[in-house]
Parts: sequence; C-alpha cells; structure tokens
Amino acid sequence: MNLLAGLEEIVKENEPLAKHTWFRLGGPARYMVRPRNKAELLDVVRRCHENEVDIYVLGRGSNILVADEGLDAVVVQMYYKNFGQVSIDKETGTVIAEAGVSLSQFVRRCAGEGLSGTECLIGIPGTIGGAVKLNAGGRFGDIGNVTESVKVIDSSGYEFTRSRDEIYFGYRMTNIIAKFIIEAEFSLVPDDPDRISRLLKEVWMLKKNSQPMNSRSAGCVFKNPRALSAGALIDKVGLKGHNIGGAFISEKHANFIEAREGATSSDVLQLIDLIRQRIQDRFEVDLELEINLWKQ
Ligand SMILES: Cc1cc2nc3c(=O)[nH]c(=O)nc-3n(C[C@H](O)[C@H](O)[C@H](O)COP(=O)(O)OP(=O)(O)OC[C@H]3O[C@@H](n4cnc5c(N)ncnc54)[C@H](O)[C@@H]3O)c2cc1C
Repeated sequence: MNLLAGLEEIVKENEPLAKHTWFRLGGPARYMVRPRNKAELLDVVRRCHENEVDIYVLGRGSNILVADEGLDAVVVQMYYKNFGQVSIDKETGTVIAEAGVSLSQFVRRCAGEGLSGTECLIGIPGTIGGAVKLNAGGRFGDIGNVTESVKVIDSSGYEFTRSRDEIYFGYRMTNIIAKFIIEAEFSLVPDDPDRISRLLKEVWMLKKNSQPMNSRSAGCVFKNPRALSAGALIDKVGLKGHNIGGAFISEKHANFIEAREGATSSDVLQLIDLIRQRIQDRFEVDLELEINLWKQ
C-alpha cells in the first residue's frame, strides 16, 4: 500500500469492479479510491503521476466493460457523496454540478426548478462527469447542447477550465483529454414546468419502451454507423436473442448486450467479436464500440 500510504480511509485494495459497474462484471482493481474532496484527489493524482501508475476514472460505471482479469491500476471514483453539489440560479438559468451528481437526479432537479434543456437526458444512468466526457444524449439532443464550461484536472494535477468554444461535442465523444472532469456549468432556459414535465414523460416513455432499462448492460454497445442503425443491422443478421454463455443480445434492442446469471466479461467480449464479424461479412461495415472497454 506504499503508493497510497496514509490514505487508507478512502482506499480499497483488490476491490471487485463488478460491484461498481452497471453490467456487474469485471475483475478487481489493484486500488480503488474515493477521494472525499479535491485536496485528496490531487494527492492521489500527484502520487500516481510521480510513480507512473495508471489512473482510471469511474463515474457510475454505466458505460464500461471491465475485463475479467481486472486492472493493475488505481481506479478513482467521482462518488456522488463526495462530488455531489449542485447550485442553481433560476434567474439566469445557470446550473453548476459536480462530477459525481447523478444525471437522472440532475435532470429532475432542473425540471423541478422550471429550467428546460436537459429533458433529452432523462433515463440515462450515470454521473455528470461521465455524461459530459462522453457527450451523453440521444435522438432529442445531448448534454453538449447546454454545457457552458467544464472544470478539469489533468494527470499531473493541473486544474483549469475549458469553455464551450474550446470543447468539441461529437457523437458520444468530446475532445476533453484531461483525466478528471470535476464540475460543469450548464445554461438552461426558464420554461413552463408543466411543459417540461410532459416532455420528460414523453422522452422517458420512448426510452423505456425501446430499451432494456432494467437489465445489466452498458447501454448501446456500438455507435450507429453513418446513417444506419447498429441495432437494425444486428437484427438483420438474425442475432437478436443470441447468447454466448451468460451474455445475451437483447430481444428488446439488438444494440444492447444483457449480462445474465453466470455471465463473464469474456462472454460479452466474444459476443461483441461475433457481432462485428457477422456485420462485416454481410454489410462490409466496421462497427465501432460505444461502450468503454477497461482492459490491460
Ligand atoms: C440502460 C442504459 C441506458 C443508456 N442509455 C444511454 C443513452 O440513451 N445515451 C447515452 O449517451 N448513454 C446511455 N447509456 C450509457 C451511459 O449511461 C452514459 O454513457 C453515461 O454518461 C456514463 O456515465 P457514468 O458516470 O456511468 O460513466 P462511467 O461508465 O463510469 O465511465 C464512462 C467513461 O467516462 C469516463 N468518466 C466518468 N466520469 C468521469 C469524470 N468525472 N471525469 C473524466 N472522465 C470520466 C470514464 O473514465 C469512462 O471512460 C446507457 C447505459 C445504460 C446502462
């Protein structure tokens, strides 16, 4: 424990990452840390930097697949209890949220305050940090549309702010390369609470009816290739419902893989390879992963 000596209260050794991912899969992290504040976070970052140890940043684990072997690294979780502050200025529509804030609670809180702009994010699990990093969203818009600035810390412990005009928000990606997002500022628009609430219901119902929300998954496995739907392609090659071990292609949405009883990360990875191969053979399309793979 030399690397993190003195930080025992916030460090767990050989912590199973399956406990911290939506898939509930994956081996242990050599160290898992939940800093309680920025000073502790900076301390961990500095130690890892000096000792050239890899850091993985964890939000709610709703977009990652961790390999069965685990990670010989430090996983730092931006935990909601420690990085969970939200401040709202109703007059200006400015909302500032720390990285660990739950995205769905954030959306409901903004709606409750009569601020519109985040309704498109309802039903997406995870944290503000993960959502900003990956520009979470869907067919009605994404978080980049309302993001004004992002406060980050890089792997050498340097803290700075990126403003809207410096950030590229692409399809489930951004150009934010600094290791940690610690806070983001959003610009929302005051609107009729009833209208916001109706919109929330509409988006939520569409999502609930088309995606397996209560299963162990990591959301859409693949990005939609240009003008095509990855789910429709997987359906067309007849793989809906197909399984390898405990990993199943969802009957509800073929771009979701569900982990069931006895599943391993290796089952999911084999299923991913199979899908890619079939789609390549039939349509000559290379499917790109949307989920983040944590593998050494
Ligand atoms: C049922 C289900 C439905 C989903 N639907 C959608 C959807 O409609 N649209 C959509 O976009 N996504 C969807 N997702 C995927 C996922 O919820 C989002 O990508 C979410 O934003 C991930 O947030 P997280 O906190 O769980 O990130 P994690 O899964 O913990 O991490 C994802 C990535 O973000 C990085 N990261 C996390 N926090 C930080 C931080 N503070 N600083 C820097 N990097 C960080 C991680 O290092 C990792 O690379 C869905 C997932 C599930 C399980």
